[in-house]
Amino acid sequence: MNAASPWRASVLTLFAEMFPGPLAQSLAGRALAAGRWSLDPVNIRDFATDRHRTVDDTPFGGGAGMVMRPDVVDAALAAVSDGRPLVVLTPRGQPLTQADVQRYAAGPGVVMLCGRYEGIDQRVIEARAMEEKSIGDYVLSGGELAALVLLDAAVRLLPGVMGAADSAEEESFSNQLLEYPHYTRPAEWQGRRVPDVLLSGHHAAVAAWRKSEAERTTRERRPDLWAAHTTALVARPAAAP
Ligand code: SAH
Repeated sequence: MNAASPWRASVLTLFAEMFPGPLAQSLAGRALAAGRWSLDPVNIRDFATDRHRTVDDTPFGGGAGMVMRPDVVDAALAAVSDGRPLVVLTPRGQPLTQADVQRYAAGPGVVMLCGRYEGIDQRVIEARAMEEKSIGDYVLSGGELAALVLLDAAVRLLPGVMGAADSAEEESFSNQLLEYPHYTRPAEWQGRRVPDVLLSGHHAAVAAWRKSEAERTTRERRPDLWAAHTTALVARPAAAP
């Protein structure tokens, strides 16, 4: 993406004032101010058609809470849809992964739909063929924080946003591995020494240590990721050393 067509995010929400929120700060905030990406919060309530600007109603089948109406949500989606991926944040979705984030960052942008109350009428999600994404196995009170998480993860991958061009290459998840641990000065602190190999100046030894730490940590903490990593290695046995 260049300056003429910055990466564009639209967020459909009942709480537009939550944006850009924390994304006005630091890396994402500077990139936003510099026009490397743009953010367009859309208030779903603006698309309600009745006098009371109703966006929700009681669930068919009974039960607690309210459900966001498909007609109102669809009108909001129609106003912004232009071929960008349509993502609805929901705990029922597939887990959001670094691969998803890389795919979004590589495209023209993203349209995100944030639920509130019990959620959104499923028919509009299906009619618009939306991607359903979850940011984890816990329940938030609304999709806005999840949308901010997705945006933060995507924006830092946009060209020119992160300082060092290649600092995203070796990160956690890029190879289905967690990253190795980091250390800086002082070399000894409260009796704890930095691993000797990192002070050795031997680049190959450092690389080997980091690789084995990444593998050990992934094996111990995330057997699911480790399984995916080893499967990928079998599928690509000729991977470079
Ligand atoms: N009744 C729903 C939860 C609704 S929470 C259920 O049990 O599945 C209200 C809104 O918060 C959801 O519509 C969704 O947009 C958002 N949300 C909650 N948890 C989320 C998560 N883990 N990931 C992404 N969005 C989430």
